[in-house]
Amino acid sequence: MSAALIDLNSERTRRTPNPEQIIIAGAGIAGLTLALALSDKGFQVRIFEKSATLAEIGAGLQLSPNATRLLDRLGVLERLKYSSVEPQAICLQDGTSGEKLLHLPIGDHARERWGAPYIVCHRADLQNALLTEARNRSNIIVQLQSAVTHHKADAETILVRVQYHDRIEEHQGALLVGADGVWSNTRTAMSDTDRARYTGSIAWRSSVAVEELPASFSALMPPGINVIAWTGANAHLIAYPIRSGQMINFVAVAPDRQNGRRWDMQVNPEGVSQNFIREFASWHQGIRDVLRAGRPWTPWRLFEMKKCRFQLEKRLVLIGDAAHAMTPFAAQGAAMAIEDAWALARAIGSGNRRLDASLAAFASARTHRIAAVVRRGALNQLAYHAKGPVAVARNILLRNRPVEKFVQGFDWLYGYDAEGRNPGEN
Ligand SMILES: Cc1cc2nc3c(=O)[nH]c(=O)nc-3n(C[C@H](O)[C@H](O)[C@H](O)COP(=O)(O)OP(=O)(O)OC[C@H]3O[C@@H](n4cnc5c(N)ncnc54)[C@H](O)[C@@H]3O)c2cc1C
Repeated sequence: MSAALIDLNSERTRRTPNPEQIIIAGAGIAGLTLALALSDKGFQVRIFEKSATLAEIGAGLQLSPNATRLLDRLGVLERLKYSSVEPQAICLQDGTSGEKLLHLPIGDHARERWGAPYIVCHRADLQNALLTEARNRSNIIVQLQSAVTHHKADAETILVRVQYHDRIEEHQGALLVGADGVWSNTRTAMSDTDRARYTGSIAWRSSVAVEELPASFSALMPPGINVIAWTGANAHLIAYPIRSGQMINFVAVAPDRQNGRRWDMQVNPEGVSQNFIREFASWHQGIRDVLRAGRPWTPWRLFEMKKCRFQLEKRLVLIGDAAHAMTPFAAQGAAMAIEDAWALARAIGSGNRRLDASLAAFASARTHRIAAVVRRGALNQLAYHAKGPVAVARNILLRNRPVEKFVQGFDWLYGYDAEGRNPGEN
């Protein structure tokens, strides 16, 4: 498949019989990153997004060096410069006593050790930066209000059906990439039972302007600009600055006691929000005060894919949450979406293998990487939500183990380069 063969003029038609173009379903983090990475390799890309606008969906994101090194190469990190924040440390504290347990340096240390910055930003700022960059590229077409509904593949091409307003469009391409998130229609179209499952936990998200933080909470925060995680029995709270440091973003994760594993029940934000605050009743006063200051707290039920699945058919590939939605305990969902996108563009654009062999190699390498990240997330959940003697043992370990040992434990994750420049890889 040669990028030079692409006929740009055919893009003006509503039916695009362009067998060379790559079609992407979903202009989220994965889809937009893939469009940019493919554009750099000279491919014609058409990306369909079902929403009318890419608005303020989601909340804060931590982006570790394994993701920011790729955003930098795509020209996106520079666009995030003014809205993102580069914290100095990740701090773990006990949610009940407020005691400081671990201070993991990032900031300049992350740049030196892992070759790229560790930043925090609002998801909407990242998506806008990706979209602005995509709109500057002549070989990317972003079409909003366009839901991918069906596809049909033959040996050489794939035909994709799109609902655009009240019209049905058909577009032909070399590949369809389902980057359509945790509720992926592309994935369930192949098997209706292969969908995300509810974990029984809810992430409550809110943000508070720095000048409105309760004094009791501010006193709990270590000096400087940091990502802070407070641990507690069955729950944890994360805080970090977003929006150039003017707001503090909060994510509190707790079990969904009201609905158990039923996720299809209505959430009454006021009533449920009170229940959620009660979950933290025995926590430090500063934390209870800040939970009351956050208004509104938006519930975000946590889903995960039962099985990580990248390739569904010869000409149909999944990336991001559509392939492997995971819990946020390792703060890596968006980072993995970005890595997937880079690795897929590399596989398609390598030109030295047949497409199906390249895709199979891509799927295999990414499945291993995702499995390791999911394991780290499960470990973090155990550590953050520990109670009783396990929590006591955790605190002793966090206080006494040399910080360098913890830092080393992140080398495989944050030092990773999806370009394949990793020790022991091709
Ligand atoms: C509480 C919480 C905290 C998190 N914190 C972090 C963090 O700190 N760091 C991190 O890296 N990750 C974090 N994540 C994970 C991260 O938000 C997701 O993994 C990431 O946004 C997934 O990106 P995506 O592009 O795969 O999916 P999405 O961002 O969901 O994008 C999918 C897009 O596809 C569109 N779409 C859907 N169906 C169709 C269709 N049929 N046709 C066309 N378009 C369609 C949707 O409208 C959407 O725009 C967190 C998640 C949660 C829940």
